[in-house]
Amino acid sequence: MNKTGYFSHRDCRKHEMGEGHPECPQRLDAIDDRLLLTGVADALDQREAPQASITDLELAHGRMYVASLRGLTDGLRDEMAAGGPTHAQIDPDTSLNVYTWDATLRAAGAAVAATDAVMAGELVNAFCATRPPGHHACKDKAMGFCFVNNVVVAARHALERHGLKRVAIVDFDVHHGNGTENIVAGDQRILMVSFFQHPFYPEGGSRSHASNLVNVPVPAYTKGAEVRELIVQHWLPRLEAYKPEMVFISAGFDAHREDDMAQMGLVESDYAWITAQIKAVADRHAQGRIVSCLEGGYHLDALARSVEAHVRVLADL
Ligand SMILES: [Zn+2]
Repeated sequence: MNKTGYFSHRDCRKHEMGEGHPECPQRLDAIDDRLLLTGVADALDQREAPQASITDLELAHGRMYVASLRGLTDGLRDEMAAGGPTHAQIDPDTSLNVYTWDATLRAAGAAVAATDAVMAGELVNAFCATRPPGHHACKDKAMGFCFVNNVVVAARHALERHGLKRVAIVDFDVHHGNGTENIVAGDQRILMVSFFQHPFYPEGGSRSHASNLVNVPVPAYTKGAEVRELIVQHWLPRLEAYKPEMVFISAGFDAHREDDMAQMGLVESDYAWITAQIKAVADRHAQGRIVSCLEGGYHLDALARSVEAHVRVLADL
């Protein structure tokens, strides 16, 4: 019986932010192709992501913000019908098209459904191959290619609807998960551990000192050996002491050496090692329960190889 779930949805490919944008639908195609080619796909329990509800989104975001996101889509559709622009710009890097809202509901819905399936014992763990990503999305603000914080929605869902007391969010994207930090800082039911290139986008994100955050800023050009040392030194003791009942991963693969979105030096074996560390924590304290959500990763081939390495460890392949 397959125990690692793989959640995705075709709506996640319809969201796009303009010609040549790095956060593009082809990212999901590259991942799917790689998993098919290597036979990994056959070992996964593939499931279609349902749509999240508005109430789900409000686990992480303000009601007005969620309403405005939906309203922007309706407004854009009307404008387009009248011959207006195809995209509504949120910031210089982030815009929505008429499909963004649906993609966002599927991305958050995948994380929620994966959590339900893992909590029900149908799956041991799951990977959500969805977009838009989420870890820059703040309580009341979209930014950095992100609209809804999928990982926080799922973590709060596990706490508030499944009755868990402690969950961890592990963020290994090269960028600081400022949105996650913005929403969960001070929420002692969630421990967030992360590393990120610093100084780098988003500026200033690493200054919070809330006691439930373990931020590990690393300089550009840091390679895997040093990152592993930092994880052993900073993440693992905190995770061990916290004993999370479930672990959520903001799985960004843009710290890969070939990814020129940033300047870090990780490779596939580093992602496999990091995943194994997280899995060991989950095995010891959380009955193995992990839900991992795709964040960044923009070099298509490196992204696909890194996701393969990550999923192989999740699925014990
Ligand atoms: Zn990133």
